[in-house]
Amino acid sequence: MNYKQALQHPIFKIISQASKNLNLDSYVIGGFVRDFILNRGDAKDIDVVAIGSGIALAKEVAKLLPNQPKVQVFKTYGTAMLRYNDIEVEFVGARKESYNENSRNPIVENGTLEDDQNRRDFTINALALSLSETNFGDLLDPFNGIQDLDNKIIRTPLNPDITYSDDPLRMMRAIRFATQLDFKIEDKSLNAITKNNKRINIITKERIVVELNKILESQTPSKGFLLLEKTGLLQHFLPELTNLKGIDEVEGQTHKDNFYHTLEVVDNIAKNTDNLWLRWAALLHDIGKAPTKRFSKNVGWTFHGHEFEGSKMVYHLFKRLKMPLNDKMKFVQKLVFMSSRPIVLAQDIVTDSAVRRLVFDAGDYVDDLMTLCEADITTKNPKRFEKYHNNFKIVRDKIIEVEEKDHVRNFQPPVSGEEIMKTFNLKPSKEIGIIKEAIKEAILDGVIPNEHEAAYNLMLKKGEALGLTKS
Ligand code: ATP
Repeated sequence: MNYKQALQHPIFKIISQASKNLNLDSYVIGGFVRDFILNRGDAKDIDVVAIGSGIALAKEVAKLLPNQPKVQVFKTYGTAMLRYNDIEVEFVGARKESYNENSRNPIVENGTLEDDQNRRDFTINALALSLSETNFGDLLDPFNGIQDLDNKIIRTPLNPDITYSDDPLRMMRAIRFATQLDFKIEDKSLNAITKNNKRINIITKERIVVELNKILESQTPSKGFLLLEKTGLLQHFLPELTNLKGIDEVEGQTHKDNFYHTLEVVDNIAKNTDNLWLRWAALLHDIGKAPTKRFSKNVGWTFHGHEFEGSKMVYHLFKRLKMPLNDKMKFVQKLVFMSSRPIVLAQDIVTDSAVRRLVFDAGDYVDDLMTLCEADITTKNPKRFEKYHNNFKIVRDKIIEVEEKDHVRNFQPPVSGEEIMKTFNLKPSKEIGIIKEAIKEAILDGVIPNEHEAAYNLMLKKGEALGLTKS
């Protein structure tokens, strides 16, 4: 491969010139080189390492660029960043790192390119292309990263035991890259992750979630979650999921393994949506099953109320992982809470009023809820699989039909409390609530259409029954 092709963007010649002006060598390194070789689209993030001051190099590059962009300097890290059109270039001086027990932040000294490559997490992330005039485009690959790219292997440049222990975030990164790229983590590395899994506890929750999100956004997220489970990492930050593992048997009756079922649901939903929060909902939709699991002689295994329990657990889980407690969390909670509704509905004859209630309760989330429930069909019985999918198709069609007719998605009562008070000359009182509820119920049951006139007439009738007189 001619690696010069990776350096066609004009920025590289400018960095080369700036390096010459400062009399230092520089290299593009890491993700940009890896993704070019893997043909993963045009990378917009470029990491440059200077054998000398990265900050000085960034400033020199900015001077040479036509628009002379601002250089953002991060003094504590010794790095600098600039934007040029749609790309972002980060500059750092080559460094040597050493670690202590309690922190993933190393002690840093200036170093050579080799030192800098040694501190990289994986061989495939340590590839460097020279930007120096004399050997522009030459590849520096001291750990056979190219071979690992060809063989689809995640491997650490140095002893994996030390690499992961030094910075345990790398354990998450290894599994994330294996999932994103569909690579295999070499056995020595996998064993080292298993051995060091407890060290994940020194990593901030925010960083763990960044990696979890990337795993969830991959094509086949189960690959990552299976590795997280197998290495013992998962139980440290998502015990709700590992608690779903296992099949109990009492008197010959078993239930399905809800951990593996969940992963199947997540893979299914990944085929149908890019919405990260819908993928989270799929991941968490059954977490209430562990604490609600019961066995009774008559009915076998039950998980009564697991949806409600699960939706409460979502809040605690998001809070613990420092995830947003905003509308995204509420979305996940609501989907978990409603996750059995369409299935229950589709098991019977699908009536208009049941669908109207579903739309009323799910509001704008109803389509996402249907996507979740379709993904939840993991039965291996082809007849049942087809039956459930057909029933969901009927539900989906009916949702559209009922919505066109009755507009209950974001229900606004056709008769307001104000109007009720005026009609019967009432002060705020419980009768108003009773009448409003009766109107809502009549609409959802299809007794009256969602229209003012019909609702007004029902209000008069209901008022009369309550002993109210029209003013
Ligand atoms: P992506 O953009 O998909 O996350 P990337 O490889 O560009 O991939 P970054 O997090 O931007 O990931 O890191 C850039 C480079 O810095 C990596 O390619 C790797 O060489 C190095 N690196 C990042 N994090 C670590 C780490 N925790 N330990 C060692 N090296 C790291």
